[in-house]
Amino acid sequence: MKRRIKVIGGGLAGSEAALQLASRGFSVDLYEMRGVQGTPAHQSTDLAELVCSNSFKGLGLTSAHGLFKNELQKLGAFLMEAAFATRVPAGESLTVNRQEFAQLITKKITEHPLITLHREEVTSLEDDRPTLVASGPLSSDKLAQDLFSRLGTEKLHFFDAIAPVVEFDSINMEHAYFRNRWDKGESADFINCPLDKETYELIVEKLRNADAVEPKPFEKKELFEGCLPIEEMARRGIDTLRFGPLRPVGLGDNPETGRRWHAVIQLRKENTQGTLYNMVGFQTRLRWGTQKEIFSLIPALKNAEYARMGAMHRNTFIDSPNLLDNHLKLKQKHPDLPPIWFAGQITGAEGYTEAVATGYYAAWNMAHSLTRKDVPAFPEESCLKSLVNHLTAPNADFQPMNFNYGLLPRIPEARKSQRKEMMAQRAQKTVDDWICEMR
Ligand SMILES: Cc1cc2nc3c(=O)[nH]c(=O)nc-3n(C[C@H](O)[C@H](O)[C@H](O)COP(=O)(O)OP(=O)(O)OC[C@H]3O[C@@H](n4cnc5c(N)ncnc54)[C@H](O)[C@@H]3O)c2cc1C
Repeated sequence: MKRRIKVIGGGLAGSEAALQLASRGFSVDLYEMRGVQGTPAHQSTDLAELVCSNSFKGLGLTSAHGLFKNELQKLGAFLMEAAFATRVPAGESLTVNRQEFAQLITKKITEHPLITLHREEVTSLEDDRPTLVASGPLSSDKLAQDLFSRLGTEKLHFFDAIAPVVEFDSINMEHAYFRNRWDKGESADFINCPLDKETYELIVEKLRNADAVEPKPFEKKELFEGCLPIEEMARRGIDTLRFGPLRPVGLGDNPETGRRWHAVIQLRKENTQGTLYNMVGFQTRLRWGTQKEIFSLIPALKNAEYARMGAMHRNTFIDSPNLLDNHLKLKQKHPDLPPIWFAGQITGAEGYTEAVATGYYAAWNMAHSLTRKDVPAFPEESCLKSLVNHLTAPNADFQPMNFNYGLLPRIPEARKSQRKEMMAQRAQKTVDDWICEMR
C-alpha cells in the first residue's frame, strides 16, 4: 500500500502534482480553499485557474518558453496536454480558453479514483501525511502565518518588488565596466552603466511621464509601504535617483572629463554563472514596452535582452535557496511536521509554465523518495533542472524568476550567435536520452 499524500492548493502546481502522484499509484488528498474562501485574484472555484493572461506564451523551439513547454510535453505533464486540448488560435503562442482549461483539469481531478478533493482552507502544516505545499502567491493569511512562524521571519516574502534582469550577452560592455563601489570585495561583481547629465535627465523626464500599470486594490497598501518604484522616485525630484540607486560615488571617473560620472546604473549578478544581471533599485510598475523603450536610452543597454521585466504585485514566496534541497524538499526536519515538498510560485518559480513544471518535478521526486532510496537525478542541462538549480542555489538576493536561457548551463566554446540554438539542442537531447533511460 502506498502512503496517502496531502497536497495544499489546487492551482497550477498543485493540480499537476496531484495528477502525477495519482498516476504513480498514490492516494492524494488535495486541499483547495476556493469554494469556501476566495483569493483576491481568482474568479472561479475551478482548479488550475489562470489568474490573469490566458497564454502560456510562445511555442517556437528557439524561444526559452517554447523549449520549456516542449520538454514538459515530452515528460508527460498533464496540464500541458490540457492546454493543447483547449487551445485557441493565437499565432505561435499556446493560448487557451481559460474556462475550458480549468474545467477540464477540475473534471480530471474530481473523476480520478485516487484523488479526493477537499474544499477546505489548510491553516497549519502539522500533519502525518507527506505534504506538498503549492498554495501559490496568494496563499491564505493563516497558512502564510503558519509558514512564517515555522520557517523564520526572514524567510517568507509578502510582496514582490522586482527589478528587470538583463542577459549578460546583450550588454554593450563598450559603455559599461566591472567595478564594486569603493572597490570593496575580492572580485568586481557589479557592472556599471554610466550616464552623462543629458542622458540622465532625459531618462528621468521619460520616467516621470511614463504609463504605469495600475495596482490592484489588494496590492496598494503593500506597494507604497514596501518600497518605491523607480518612476515614483523620478517624480520626487530631478536628482532623487542620482542621490539614490544611481549615485555615482566610489565608481570611478569619466575618462574623457576626468570628473565623476553624473549618474551610474549598477547591475548585480543574478546567478552564479554570471549570465544574468539585475538592475539594482529599478523595481518598477511601468508597462513592459515602456520599460524597454526607456531603458534603451542607457547606452550599455541599448540592445539589451531581458530575462525578466520589472513588476510589482503581492507575492508569497519562501527563501528557497536556504530552505529547500534540489528535490524541492524542505531541508530541515521539524519534529511536528511530516516531510514537506514545495512547488509553484511559492518556491519563486514565476509563471504558469514554471508552476506546472515545479508541480511535476516535486511530485516526481516525492513519488521516488517515498518508494525507493535512490532518487534518479534529472539531467542538469534540461530546462526543468536549470530552473530548479536557480531556485535552490545559494542566493542572498533571491527573487522569483521565469525560466529563460540565462538559467541553462553555458556552452563557453559556442559562438554568441549560435549559443542559444546549441543550448536548446543539448537540452532536448539530454531529456530525450533521459526519458529512454527511465523507461
Ligand atoms: C495577480 C497575479 C497575476 C499573475 N499573472 C500571471 C500571468 O499572466 N502569466 C503568468 O505566467 N503568471 C502570472 N502570475 C504568476 C503565477 O504564475 C501564477 O500566479 C500561477 O497561477 C502560480 O501557480 P501556483 O500553482 O503556484 O499558484 P495558484 O495557481 O495561485 O494556486 C494556488 C492555489 O492554492 C489555493 N490556496 C491558497 N491558500 C490555501 C490554503 N491555505 N488552503 C487551501 N488552498 C489554498 C488557492 O486558492 C489557489 O487555488 C500572476 C500572479 C498573480 C498574483
